[in-house]
Amino acid sequence: MTEIDLKIVREKAEKEIRAAQNRADLERIFHSYLGKRGQIALLFKELKDLSEEQRRGMGQKMNELKKYLEKILTQKKSILARVKGGAKKAEPSRFDLDRPGRKPEIGHLHPLTQTKREIMAIFASMGFVVAAGPEMENEWYNFDALNIPKDHPARDAWSTIWIKSPESTKLLLRTHTSPVQARYLEAHPPPLRIIVPGKVFRYEATDASHESQFYQLEGLMVDKKVSAASFKAVIAEFMKRFFGKNLEFRLRPDFFPFTEPSFDVAMTCLTCSGRGCPVCKKTGWLEVAGAGLVHPNVLRFSGLNPEKWQGWAFGFGWDRLAMMKYKIDDIRLFNSGNLRFLEQF
Ligand SMILES: [Zn+2]
Repeated sequence: MTEIDLKIVREKAEKEIRAAQNRADLERIFHSYLGKRGQIALLFKELKDLSEEQRRGMGQKMNELKKYLEKILTQKKSILARVKGGAKKAEPSRFDLDRPGRKPEIGHLHPLTQTKREIMAIFASMGFVVAAGPEMENEWYNFDALNIPKDHPARDAWSTIWIKSPESTKLLLRTHTSPVQARYLEAHPPPLRIIVPGKVFRYEATDASHESQFYQLEGLMVDKKVSAASFKAVIAEFMKRFFGKNLEFRLRPDFFPFTEPSFDVAMTCLTCSGRGCPVCKKTGWLEVAGAGLVHPNVLRFSGLNPEKWQGWAFGFGWDRLAMMKYKIDDIRLFNSGNLRFLEQF
């Protein structure tokens, strides 16, 4: 037995103690080194094979080693006691320069904001500019300018939240982003291409697919000659880039007062790839937007000559697009402030 043996035992013990995760580990290490039949005890037994002089020197060194191991075991025990229940990874017993730094926790953008920015970037690359308008609108822009006259039954389709206001300027929380079309057309000469991502409000009960406050993405293109074909091309490009794959979609006739002809846009259900599932009510299709060629009256009300100008417009549910992309099954999660939900994005 030499001093090298002691050095090996010491380094091995140090390593094991550093790696210990809990009290049971320490117990085991104690028995393995300092127990009655532990490695130190075995070394003491070997002392008898040494000469008197060597025995004295080695004996002293072994006692030092024993005390040292007891000391670092006790230190480690108190470190583990500070870490709750010993469940978490214990701190290394000394300062470790190689240890990676602790990352500060920083927030990130809400999934709807992330989606909005993505959508805006895609349309911007196709020449669309972003427009905005007030969330509290007046009756004219929300309805009349969009060819929804007073007392027309179509007006009942929008469950409006009215604001207390004088009879002459009836105010409301906008029920769609379409009033921005009328405001923009008044102020900007065509040709033009805009998108309007915005918050809208309906007086409606809330459930997994309905919120009284939700988000729309309005689009409008006005030029000398536009057609449903150019609309289809723009939407196909948008969907391909937003969902990251070529998706089938279809247009079917629909009715909106501000477009003629009007159609609804449905795309292949992402959940079942068109085979049919509860999400798409077994049809394989999901309605994602209302659209159509801008009604001549809407152009006229905004001071444009419908003989000279044509346009198409669409309205997506931008929160619905996010729900489909990320397979979110409850629209209420967006406003829930639930961190377990938000941290996934
Ligand atoms: Zn489906």
